[in-house]
Amino acid sequence: MTNNIFSKDGIISQYFIGYEHRPQQTEMYETISGALAVQGRAYVVIAAGTGVGKTFAYLIPLIQHSIATGKPVVVSTNTINLQEQIAYKDITFLKTLPIWGENDFEVALGKGRSNYLCLRRLNNAQLHQTGLFEELSEVKELKEINKWSYELLKTKGDGSLSALSFVPQNSVWSKVCSEYDNCPGRHCVYYNKCFYQRARQKLWSANLIVVNHPLLVIDAMLRKDKANILPPYEALVIDEAHRLEGVAQDHLGLEISNGRINYLLNNLYNPRNDRGFLKFLSAQAKPNQAKDIVANLRETSDRFFAEVIQWSSTKAPSNGRVKKSNFDGTITNTLSEALMELYIALGELKKRTDLSRAQGAREKTPSAKPKRSKKCADETDAKDGYDGFELDAYIRRTLGLATEIESFFKQTLSSTV
Ligand code: SF4
Repeated sequence: MTNNIFSKDGIISQYFIGYEHRPQQTEMYETISGALAVQGRAYVVIAAGTGVGKTFAYLIPLIQHSIATGKPVVVSTNTINLQEQIAYKDITFLKTLPIWGENDFEVALGKGRSNYLCLRRLNNAQLHQTGLFEELSEVKELKEINKWSYELLKTKGDGSLSALSFVPQNSVWSKVCSEYDNCPGRHCVYYNKCFYQRARQKLWSANLIVVNHPLLVIDAMLRKDKANILPPYEALVIDEAHRLEGVAQDHLGLEISNGRINYLLNNLYNPRNDRGFLKFLSAQAKPNQAKDIVANLRETSDRFFAEVIQWSSTKAPSNGRVKKSNFDGTITNTLSEALMELYIALGELKKRTDLSRAQGAREKTPSAKPKRSKKCADETDAKDGYDGFELDAYIRRTLGLATEIESFFKQTLSSTV
């Protein structure tokens, strides 16, 4: 079969104009096929120079293996360019080859969750646009995205950012994209129309899934919580593997920065422009208390990071490796404590909000009509404009940050960068 595919007069040479036979390509195909035939685990490391034709040499045996076993296989690349080249160009060509018999195979391109438009968050952003956005350009972009959502629902578009006709500002897209910790899954009223859920279903039914390294790493991380994006797969090829370690460091390490804290605080409430999530909560739930804690936390964070900068320029180890003893008596972790205070305040705010909404619902006359956004693509789960999932997400993120900073100070996480 090998010679039939890659030999001088083989199948590819008949379909690929300008095809050149390369012995290394045949060797690579045979090595990968051999590894896939092993019962149990097998690992192969191949260094293939430019021009070997490595993509076909791994794609063909992988797809053959998936067809034979009925189980999915995965290819991970570093760049989106290579990912798209494989999923669109290379696969389109390979499908034309008469080597698959009666079998067809499905290919899916895996993209990170934040690439997809979330209809629930879009609806909320529509309802609260004056409290969320300061600039007219942001409101205009939101309007365009909303228009796009109608088109997507009509045309069954995939709802991913790359299909949008312009690049939105991060301040807008971050308010309407799908988020892992801010999604009720099957309980969402948009579940059946959800772009992300549709893309995920496509991934789970494909033979070959093409992802990039960040998605592969994030999937491995989420597997612990059984929240994996990819289905259990039979074989994995890591192309551009020399980039994987750097990507793993970026995604699996602890990253604590004032930017990350400010992002959370600004989304909750920014007094400079009087915008943020806490603004939407009813006065009965007393959100002002949480706003004050946000303001204090901002000051604590500024002081804390000023101390860290001072420490890193004078006392931090020159190799950048930090041990618990490096902090002794120099920096105090005031930030985790302040974040825990906010975490508790947000939890109480959630209880008060739920209580006042429950009371409000009891007092409503049966004929009272719920308020809905007329401007969004579909009905809302937030009939009065309140979204408890969004508040839950802020509560979880606040706790997550407090715990990560504590772990960094106590150096309790082994094998972490
Ligand atoms: S299920 Fe709902 S909340 Fe989750 S991504 Fe889809 S639309 Fe958004």
